[in-house]
Formats: sequence, C-alpha cells, structure tokens
Amino acid sequence: MILIDGKSVAAKCREELKAKVASFEKKPTLAVIRIGNDVASSIYVNLKQKMCNELGINFVEHHLDANITQSDLIALIKQLNNNCDINGILLQSPIPFHLNILEAFKTISPEKDVDGFNPVNVGKLVQGQECFCACTPLGIMRLLKEYNINIEGKHAVVIGRSNIVGRPMAELLLNANATVTICHSRTKNLSDITKTADILVVAIGNPKFITADMIKEGAVVIDVGINRSPNTKKIIGDVDFANVKDKCSYITPVPGGVGPMTIITLMENLIKSYENMQNIK
Ligand code: NAD
Repeated sequence: MILIDGKSVAAKCREELKAKVASFEKKPTLAVIRIGNDVASSIYVNLKQKMCNELGINFVEHHLDANITQSDLIALIKQLNNNCDINGILLQSPIPFHLNILEAFKTISPEKDVDGFNPVNVGKLVQGQECFCACTPLGIMRLLKEYNINIEGKHAVVIGRSNIVGRPMAELLLNANATVTICHSRTKNLSDITKTADILVVAIGNPKFITADMIKEGAVVIDVGINRSPNTKKIIGDVDFANVKDKCSYITPVPGGVGPMTIITLMENLIKSYENMQNIK
C-alpha cells in the first residue's frame, strides 16, 4: 500500500506558486466575502488568508453583517466583478439562510470564480471545456497525477453528489476517461458497486463508513471526509483507514491527504485568473 501524502504534494505546489508570484510585476488579489460569525467560516477564511500571506498574494476580506440583504450582497459582488485589481472572488459558505447562495454564485463573474461554483463554469466542466473547477476535486486530480495513478478506462466510483465535491469530482474523472459511477444516500446495494471500483472517492461525512469488505483488492481509495471522532475529538475520515489500508494499492490519510490540497488548489485557481487577466501565457 502506498500512502498518498497530500501534505508534501501541497508543500511542493506552494513552493512552485511562491516562485511564480514572486516573478509577477503586480501582486494578485483574492477577495473573500464572509457573512455573519459562523465559527467554521472564520477558521476557513483565516487559513486562506494565511496561505495568501505566505505566497505574497493580497487578501481582501469583506466581513458582512449577518443581516445583510440579498441586494446588498449582490451589489458588493458586482462591485468586485468590476474592480480590475481583484483577480478572484470567493463567497465563504455557509451563509445565513435568508440569502440565496445560488444567485450569489451566479453573480460572481465566471472569469473570477476561483471556487468554480458559477453555473457557467459548472456547465463548461460538464462539457469538458477549460474552466474554473471546485478546489477539492481538482486537488484530488493533482494527487492522482503526482502519484502517476492511471485513470483512463478505470472504473471510478464517487460516493456523494454535492456541488462542492461529489458532482465535480465525477465530471473530472469522466473528463479523464474513467468510467464513472456516482453513488449517494439513496443508492441501493452500495457495497456491490464500491467493490467494483478501481478508484473509490468517498465524500459523505460519515466517520469510518467504508470498511475492507466494501472495497476491491488493490483499489485506490481517496477519503474526502472530515469528521470529528466522538471519543478522541480527532479528525477522522469517511474510510476506516486501519481496516482498509492493507487491501488498497493507494490511500489518502485523514488528516494529511485530500485536506491540504484544497486551499493550495484555490491559490492555483487564483493565479490562473490573474494570468488570464494579465494575458500571461
Ligand atoms: P454533503 O453533506 O453536501 O454531501 C454528502 C453526500 O453524501 C450526499 O450527496 C449524500 O447523498 C451522500 N451520502 C450521505 N450518506 C450516504 C450513505 N450512507 N451512502 C451513500 N452516500 C451517502 O457533504 P460534502 O460537502 O460533499 O462533504 C462530504 C465530506 O467531505 C464531509 O465530511 C466534508 O467535511 C468533507 N469535505 C472535505 C473537504 C476537504 O478539503 N478535505 C472539502 C469539502 C468537504
């Protein structure tokens, strides 16, 4: 079994990006919109800010009151769209329930949509066109590439159909010529399907859900889950790592597998937007 070390791949990407940004005449800028005082949101935003600082990227945070109206939120996004100093716009979720997040994502200019949630980018992904794509699945593709894991012709099974992970993951694997099956909470006989997976991506949010009897000998297992263990309070994945590891050819640990790739992939998307805007090829 080979452990897929997301931490070291992310560190390599970080050094590449740092050097690239240092060569730019002007610093790229990421604008982040955070609404209200959700604790998880503030942790994620702080991590993104830290990474921007490390890479020499400007970070502009718009921290809005939880009671902001939809029209004020849309007006801010439009203002950021029109500001040519801003290269990427990110709306940190979750946002308060009274706001329409899909309308907000739709308003973010597709050219600055570094999270890949604008329907224009989602549509391009489905058509196999060049686009911005959600960071977690894109980071997983980078991990597969770094470890020279062949995707073409393989049966890839994705468990989870969220807009953030499962759906874009399935599209990326399809675009890389895998035969893709998507499973979700209503899927019948799940383990009959997972047992046929050459590549299994698990994005459910259910600790240690995948056990050895559910996977094929030699499978590549990618664990996206982030759960807190009720006993130890440690972060654990959706895959029962200790139980499954000896049956896999490759596996991502939690923590240290998929997680470290997400923010660095966001930075890669931002640099791509910057280069597009500066016409750097
Ligand atoms: P989500 O709740 O939006 O989606 C979960 C999906 O799992 C749903 O599509 C649902 O149909 C499916 N599901 C639930 N129970 C199932 C079952 N018993 N059998 C089969 N399918 C089932 O969650 P999400 O945003 O996609 O996140 C999934 C997990 O990945 C969470 O643990 C989340 O914390 C983690 N995550 C990690 C990163 C990262 O950077 N590592 C990024 C995003 C999400």
